[in-house]
Amino acid sequence: MTLRIERIPTLSDNYTYLVVCDETSHAAIIDAPEEGPVALRVAQTGAQVKLILSTHHHPDHSMANPELAARYGVPVYGHVSDANRMPGQTNGIDEGDEIRIGNHVARVLYIPSHTMGHVAYVFDQARAVFTGDMLFAAGCGRLFEGNAEMMYDALCRKLAALPNDYLVYCGHEYTENNLRFALSVEPENPEIKERYEAVRELRARAAGDWHDATPAEMTIPSTIALEKATNPFMRAEDAAELGRRRTLKDNF
Ligand SMILES: [Zn+2]
Repeated sequence: MTLRIERIPTLSDNYTYLVVCDETSHAAIIDAPEEGPVALRVAQTGAQVKLILSTHHHPDHSMANPELAARYGVPVYGHVSDANRMPGQTNGIDEGDEIRIGNHVARVLYIPSHTMGHVAYVFDQARAVFTGDMLFAAGCGRLFEGNAEMMYDALCRKLAALPNDYLVYCGHEYTENNLRFALSVEPENPEIKERYEAVRELRARAAGDWHDATPAEMTIPSTIALEKATNPFMRAEDAAELGRRRTLKDNF
């Protein structure tokens, strides 16, 4: 039973995802700031969009929700606390809720601190997690609404508890810069060095408009194991150290 995961480049460095149950063609759109590229990919794949999932309320992840919801006649899911600020939200969800997409189930993890209504969607059968702006490949989002304690809980307890082979799909193509920072924190870590060289080479092939980017130019997905080995925030020993690193990154 396969879940097809389409990576759609949006805005200047955002990732929108279209996840499609291969058996039923039922699909969900995850984090959509633009209608055009998403509608195009839906048409190309023949997916039947059944719902829209948002990881958090920021416009670069959600501002096309109303247009896409109207186009496909589908509900919009976001954290229950974001009912009044998530564009187009119809269904409030929280930790432990399960959402069906064809023969697949998305399980909700509540992971606040980038925003207080941030969630991740875990697809256990497909062994994938969509982490929005909380866990990036080799990095994490800014602490806009919560504190380092909450972020430590989200990254180093909840997400770190997922199986090592789970694929990590995040909200932005920030990996090269994140690894440059990771190297400044742990200059002698061979796994960070190796990942940085690989990502630098891959990203050097990227040219022109992000909207035209092909999978060969994308560093996503990562895995939980790779993040545990190379992500300086997931590797922080406690909340205080994570907070210190986040402040360093803000000024990097
Ligand atoms: Zn954000």
